[in-house]
Amino acid sequence: MNSFIENVNFFEGNNPEKIAAEYGTPLYVYNEKILRDRMHKVSQVITKYPYTANYSVKANTNIHILKIALEEGINCDAMSVGEIEMLFKAGFPKDRIFFIPNNVDASELIYALKHGIMTSLDSLEQLELFGECCEDLKIPAEKRQCAVRINPGVGAGHCEKVVTGGKKTKFGIAEEDIPQIFEITAKYSLTIAGINQHIGSGFMDPQPYLDAVTNFLQIALQFKELKFIDFGGGYGIPYHKLDDEKDYPMEDFKKRLEPILDNFVEKYGSAPMFKSEPGRYCVAESSVILGRVHATKQNNGHLYAGTDIGMNVLVRPSMYDSWHDVEVLRDGKVLSRDELIEQNVVGNICESGDILAKERKLPKMQRGDLACILDTGAYGWSMCSTYNSRPRAAEVLITKDGKVKQIRRRETINDLMRLF
Ligand SMILES: *Cc1c(COP(=O)(O)O)cnc(C)c1O
Repeated sequence: MNSFIENVNFFEGNNPEKIAAEYGTPLYVYNEKILRDRMHKVSQVITKYPYTANYSVKANTNIHILKIALEEGINCDAMSVGEIEMLFKAGFPKDRIFFIPNNVDASELIYALKHGIMTSLDSLEQLELFGECCEDLKIPAEKRQCAVRINPGVGAGHCEKVVTGGKKTKFGIAEEDIPQIFEITAKYSLTIAGINQHIGSGFMDPQPYLDAVTNFLQIALQFKELKFIDFGGGYGIPYHKLDDEKDYPMEDFKKRLEPILDNFVEKYGSAPMFKSEPGRYCVAESSVILGRVHATKQNNGHLYAGTDIGMNVLVRPSMYDSWHDVEVLRDGKVLSRDELIEQNVVGNICESGDILAKERKLPKMQRGDLACILDTGAYGWSMCSTYNSRPRAAEVLITKDGKVKQIRRRETINDLMRLF
């Protein structure tokens, strides 16, 4: 495809050059329609049995995006007290929040207990600590409910750093330690209300996830009277869409998932609430970053387009070697991809690893162009930093009626000074 942003009318008729002029660059731009579409899709993964999609908010915690998730009726996963507070602020009630911390001190578990938020414990020691917190707070036995995260011994993902299940990752309780879970729950009169897993992030082939679900449901049989079983997130999105990469096959996935669930429900005797935890799928494709090309050069035969989109703005390429498609805009129009030339799109950070797109075939860029980086809604702003003392980017939302609304102001140097 020549252009994703033209194909989906990403800016809904607004001129990106005007948006960039008004709000400055680098700028995260979100499209509300895409956001709602993806959130709706994940809410429909299981329709035959009780099910909720829990948006994993670490992918993007902008409060306006959380409010859209609230309206779309999906629940949320939080990894920290900060994320829980953000969800409260967005209007989420406690029973629509699931807390999945790892390696935390008692204060975070006490916070969750006091606020009545279901928590999953990531290790035997954390489960023990949770039990101690229940004792200290004199929580009545019927309220001593929690979940445990099981490491299913298998993983999947777009790169090794995001594989979270499997024998070599830090997450979850190993299957062989399950008997010890029951020793701890007996000691503190805890009830295991749910179990969860998460095998990794950004896979496009559903098979490893389906295998993991099958395996997990086998494990689930060891737990009596589960209220929920949570299969984790990780559904991928087509980061190579300009090369016509296909979407995650959601419909096919749903069809193949159903008989696995049927089989389990028959054996278990009832259907608990099933959950999944998509982060990336909900938000990634709903955002682009607009950045300005400030300088181009040729160094020893290599072409560089120097932009204001450094690794402080989008860290995924330097952290995971991730691919993000790039479109080039001149005077608000997308340049055609008929004639492409190999260039390196880089940022303005003093690091040689500050590369957004390496040796990439793109229309020849020149100073003043806008680089438009696709699929930046997940692990984009939420992972950005102030490295090189560069204030963090602003964010705008193209609303469903085509208006441009600022949803986060640009950070200022004064904001950075305030902590001293
Ligand atoms: C990050 C994370 C997710 C979401 O992963 P995605 O790849 O963004 O869907 C889900 N569950 C847990 C426990 C996570 O840590």
